[in-house]
Amino acid sequence: MTIDEMLSKASSVAIFGHVRPDGDCIGSCLGLYNYIVDNFPNIQVQVFAEAFPPSYNLLNGADQVLSEYDGRPVDLAFLMDTPSFERCGANGAKCLKTAKFTCNIDHHISNPLNLCSENFVEPQASSASEVLYFLLDSNKVSKNAANSMYLGIVHDTGAFKFSATSKRTMNAVGDFIDKGCDFAKIINDTYYTRSYKATLITGLAKEKCKLALNGKVVYSYITPDEMQRFDVTPMDLSSVVDSIREVSGTEVAIFLYPVNGQYKISLRSNYIVNVNKIAGTFGGGGHEKAAGASTDEHPEVVIPKILSLIEEALKN
Ligand code: AMP
Repeated sequence: MTIDEMLSKASSVAIFGHVRPDGDCIGSCLGLYNYIVDNFPNIQVQVFAEAFPPSYNLLNGADQVLSEYDGRPVDLAFLMDTPSFERCGANGAKCLKTAKFTCNIDHHISNPLNLCSENFVEPQASSASEVLYFLLDSNKVSKNAANSMYLGIVHDTGAFKFSATSKRTMNAVGDFIDKGCDFAKIINDTYYTRSYKATLITGLAKEKCKLALNGKVVYSYITPDEMQRFDVTPMDLSSVVDSIREVSGTEVAIFLYPVNGQYKISLRSNYIVNVNKIAGTFGGGGHEKAAGASTDEHPEVVIPKILSLIEEALKN
């Protein structure tokens, strides 16, 4: 069934993404939200998401996002950019279990492909926003919807530099530009800029970074005390891993930071190492080249364990 067919049968729709939403999560949720508002005015549509970076407020509909599902039943629930019910934010799992029809639009390799009534999961796609765009009727995609999906693609491709960026990705971006997408403003204001305090703590993480495995791995971490000293939230640290991976000659970047009383592990690889597998060892997941997990252990304990898994992966 196409998205338009699903929508034509629904009068109430709820859209959910993953916990601690990133650009692709919010971009795909609001891309779909704007598409529905623009083309299906009789549908009552709601988007639910946990707190997201304030810079994303430039997207139309960002001010309509609700923080938690209120339990009201809906005809159709969408799960965007999310590969499991456990990872669903804003109490969305409750809605997905009771909605008449459900649809998962995702690109995580760890997705079991059977979460919803209909599952559009493409692990080779750059982003959930890209998967979404090619499921929609392009003629009915407005500038507002294009802006949202463009933001999603920019963030999940690291501004078009990750290897999942394809001709299809760029065709989508070309279509968005044709639709009047604010491409320069979105990439600058949401991807290439961060708050002053986030800039300072990124500097500290860089100062603390170390090399391992003959320069193939760069790692760093931030402690709860340091977060307090810089007065930052986990959101301010979510892009630090992408800064430390800039060290030349490295294959893998590891960054740990405190989230909800645990340490969040962020892993990035360039070419060879499948970090989704490594994150899986710690109960996490993601993609081959970008993955995450959480741990109760201190970074000084867990980093050597990650390093030995990377050492094994580099041998194969
Ligand atoms: P992050 O390091 O948080 O930017 O996450 C990189 C990728 O891994 C994203 O696609 C996340 O959705 C995914 N990811 C992060 N943490 C987890 C986790 N605990 N379980 C499954 N996937 C995760």
